[in-house]
Amino acid sequence: MLLFLPIFLLVGVSWGSFLSLVTIRIPKGESIVSPRSKCDNCEHPLSWTENIPLLSWFLLKGVCKHCKQPISMRNPLIEITSVILFGISIIANPSCIDGSSNLLISLSGCIFFSILLVLTIFDIEYLLLPKTLCYLGIIVGLITISFIKLSITGQYSISSVIQDNFFATLIGFILFRAFYLITKLILGKPAIGVGDGNLIAMLGAWLGLNGLGLSVVISILLGGIYCSVGLIRRTIHRGDVIAYGPFLSLGGVLVWTFGNEFIINILI
Ligand SMILES: [Zn+2]
Repeated sequence: MLLFLPIFLLVGVSWGSFLSLVTIRIPKGESIVSPRSKCDNCEHPLSWTENIPLLSWFLLKGVCKHCKQPISMRNPLIEITSVILFGISIIANPSCIDGSSNLLISLSGCIFFSILLVLTIFDIEYLLLPKTLCYLGIIVGLITISFIKLSITGQYSISSVIQDNFFATLIGFILFRAFYLITKLILGKPAIGVGDGNLIAMLGAWLGLNGLGLSVVISILLGGIYCSVGLIRRTIHRGDVIAYGPFLSLGGVLVWTFGNEFIINILI
């Protein structure tokens, strides 16, 4: 599979560039086809040499050729994240589809990671996890994982897929909706958003019940560390709303990449 690495990296950087554009334009109701990308400061339309994913930012040294103002780090950050995610999809070892072909694991990983990346961008920038995208992620996840599991001869049955992935999705929905309602009732405001519950259900569809549980544990640990450090450094204040989606997504990526056993060994 390492032979495919250059192709995955090239597709990853272009795909990241596309996702970056989509996540800016769709919330504004703008077309993703036209107009051409332009500088945020002087609105000068970018030529193709100024618009090569990742490379242009480095060649221009992060400064617009026309107005000499710094170019936002947003695009290169999303592009580099996409490259990394596509790269690690090749070496990933997800327990939920153990025994499948490397190519199927890599391709399905790219789909899973792409959905998580878009959800992370939305949650960081708009404090929103779009319902449609979470539901789409659930449907695509259930179809992809069912297809892969059932294509592995003799290892999984339809009932095992339903018991694991479909059940995990349902648990994600029910438990975290209940958690949302209970904390809203007791604390006066919910401890997590409805969107987080949808994302957790999506993780269940892709990772199965064990993978879902591990992702949630990782997200709680990482979110806890982030908030503690932020409170100590006073970059976060009591009552601030924190996007939880990125921690859940990171949990999902780690569990998919390293597999359940490895994560359990690290945690225990
Ligand atoms: Zn400019």
